[in-house]
Amino acid sequence: LKSKLPKVGTTIFTRMSKLAEEYKAINLSQGFPEFDCSPELQHLLGKYVGSGKNQYAPMAGILPLREAISEKVYNASALTYHPETEITITSGATEALYVAISTVVHLGDEVIVFEPAYDSYVPAIEMNGGIPVFVTLSPLYDEIDWNQVASRFSEKTRAVIINTPHNPTGKVWSKEDLKALGELAQKHDVIVISDEVYEHIIFDEHLHVSASSIPALAERTFICGSFGKTFHITGWKVGYCLAPKLLTEEFRKIHQYVVFSVNTPAQFAISEYLSEPAHYLELSAFYEAKRDLFVQAIEGTGLVVKPSEGSFFQNVYYGDLSEEHDLALAERLTREAGVASIPLSSFYYSNSDYRVLRFCFAKNDDTLYKGAELLRQVK
Ligand code: PMP
Ligand code: GLN
Repeated sequence: LKSKLPKVGTTIFTRMSKLAEEYKAINLSQGFPEFDCSPELQHLLGKYVGSGKNQYAPMAGILPLREAISEKVYNASALTYHPETEITITSGATEALYVAISTVVHLGDEVIVFEPAYDSYVPAIEMNGGIPVFVTLSPLYDEIDWNQVASRFSEKTRAVIINTPHNPTGKVWSKEDLKALGELAQKHDVIVISDEVYEHIIFDEHLHVSASSIPALAERTFICGSFGKTFHITGWKVGYCLAPKLLTEEFRKIHQYVVFSVNTPAQFAISEYLSEPAHYLELSAFYEAKRDLFVQAIEGTGLVVKPSEGSFFQNVYYGDLSEEHDLALAERLTREAGVASIPLSSFYYSNSDYRVLRFCFAKNDDTLYKGAELLRQVK
């Protein structure tokens, strides 16, 4: 068989989690919460399974969930996405991203991608015959050089993919960044795909600026969201895509043949749970305490940290302690020190030697203390 993705193997998240299991290491690698979702949400799922909500959902998702999302987005961005025509429930953000990319990218089209980049973007571009064009940023997040971004546009540019709050750097884009992107996107008449799965995990003075709140972007953007991060239910795989009507029409043509529709009782449970804003508005404080705990616990180790601005990831620079390549170090730390992380090089496509590891702090406090203690062994 001729491979469609000859350069792709098993994802780094699967590989590091497997290695962590094999060596009984503390797993701060793959991004998922160690703790369970709320008993209330569990109860709601049971309630809907027990009351006959077990057949196919409508292709675009159940209406109450689309309405609840519309209201949530309106409260945050003062923009109305019409539940009938502009909101689609997807099988996690992964499906939303894949379908959005497939909707836009034709053979030979260029797509601007900021690296380090979440691992699903580039394979999805390539599966559709597109060509990724990279803007390279450091893992300890520089400010974005918009002149450099502007220089990446060509006649063939069809789309730009962005992600804020950002996995893996924890960088949160400012309103100025989004406006700068909006101007470029309008000027070159390109589509934007905005991955906002960490929208409710934001720290310190930072605010999440959604593409929906910038008119120049809202008119041309597919916003991909997920309940996996927000409600500690990464295994439920329920997400959504917001986009103007004409974009949504094209998106649904593909979505209906990728999954047709998404888990019905989960959609009902989430729609009821979502009606209480405290269920997502308290998430930032919860994760900020975990970030602080982890950053403080590794103080004095010689590891250099720039505190994450959002998401549940913290990057750590180890270059003052070791010359080792990040993949080799991440594997050795898992085997010998008993703590698993993700090497930053796995989010880069150009050659990178930044000596940075990503740690997920969506873990219980004692797990984070233990992990930090083990990190003192980095030599
Ligand atoms: N985008 C980013 C940046 C992510 O970190 C993740 C998952 N960790 C996803 C998309 C995929 O989200 P989902 O699990 O809802 O498919
Ligand atoms: N997005 C998660 C991370 O960055 C992992 C999800 C996955 O394993 N695909 O760790």
